[in-house]
Amino acid sequence: MARVVVAGAGAIGASVAYHLALLGADDVVLADAGDVAGGATAKAMGGVRQQFSTAAEVRLAQASIRFFEELGAAFFQQVGYVFIATTEVGLAELEERHAVQSELGVPVERVDSARVAALVPGLETADVLGGVYCGEDGTAIPGDVTRELVVRAGALGVDVREQTDALALDRDVLVVACGPSSAQVAARIGVELPIRPLCRQLVHTTPVAGLAERLPMTVESETGFHFRRRDDALVLAMSEATPRWGFAELVDDELAADWLARLHLRFPAAAGAQIETAWAGLYDMTPDAHPIVGFVGGGVYSACGFSGHGFMQSPAVGRAAAEEILGLTPSLDLSPYRLERFEAGAVFPERVVL
Ligand SMILES: Cc1cc2nc3c(=O)[nH]c(=O)nc-3n(C[C@H](O)[C@H](O)[C@H](O)COP(=O)(O)OP(=O)(O)OC[C@H]3O[C@@H](n4cnc5c(N)ncnc54)[C@H](O)[C@@H]3O)c2cc1C
Repeated sequence: MARVVVAGAGAIGASVAYHLALLGADDVVLADAGDVAGGATAKAMGGVRQQFSTAAEVRLAQASIRFFEELGAAFFQQVGYVFIATTEVGLAELEERHAVQSELGVPVERVDSARVAALVPGLETADVLGGVYCGEDGTAIPGDVTRELVVRAGALGVDVREQTDALALDRDVLVVACGPSSAQVAARIGVELPIRPLCRQLVHTTPVAGLAERLPMTVESETGFHFRRRDDALVLAMSEATPRWGFAELVDDELAADWLARLHLRFPAAAGAQIETAWAGLYDMTPDAHPIVGFVGGGVYSACGFSGHGFMQSPAVGRAAAEEILGLTPSLDLSPYRLERFEAGAVFPERVVL
């Protein structure tokens, strides 16, 4: 059987390697230039949702949720995701997405401000016109899930190597799952991938007393400001008005202070919270914010460009990519994610990039 080298032991590479082994591949190396889950995966918010705006992304997320459910409560807290709208325009957008999601069977409900207040005790809802909620969505710690998959992959015979440049290894197939470095790694073997790193940051607050046990991920639809519970504190994030392209992973203190102020207004229950710490990481952005999955050259398979939502999609993508690499029919339609779509100029925008 062919030797498959998976470059990158983040959420994506770990899932591809694990699924390759599950499907019977007996010569798989999972190599990381650094440590397992040491890249973007370590920096992620850990949101897992099915509430996307395009059918393709919703399907990927749906298949992944089942996997997270199987991992169980130790790894996946199924606390739900609520999007709130404070304008008619915002509400109409949520309504449009609700239609796409429900058509595909996602149990997403419309909620009024009273229900939002019940779902997120302590939230300011006076200006909330309505929202949508999906109780199947939730949160996880991406590093924990990834390390678990690597352990499982190792138990199935995958050769896991840290501090190893994957390109230095002999292989029949190379899977490029190098997150924000994917374009650079692919370029070394003559493959051009349109992936750019984008700096994003998260803020971790000091402990907040009395947080609901099952606090949903709460997202302001119009601003993109969102927060989740992590242990006895909150993690804050927000889409940034001015994109910070490049490899520099820097925390912008002004943004962090702005988000804390937003938290105090939106969630007075956390009025005493301060910034405990903040960190920055990189999204691996493609021009249409969808990943590039598939063979991109002789013996080179791309599994990158996840544009800020790779952790939650990693189970389904890992499975489908492994099937395709082994010559099986992928259990998911990967055709929306081919590299060729950029040559044809065909792009379909995923609007819910948080
Ligand atoms: C601030 C922030 C918040 C996020 N929030 C979410 C969220 O809520 N939900 C969600 O789904 N996603 C989120 N993401 C995105 C998510 O983190 C990524 O999509 C996902 O973790 C990507 O995983 P990966 O395996 O592709 O990349 P990475 O985790 O970056 O792993 C790539 C690995 O490749 C290795 N590598 C590089 N070059 C080589 C080489 N030559 N040989 C071998 N190994 C190599 C690196 O060392 C690295 O470990 C967030 C990201 C950030 C930065």
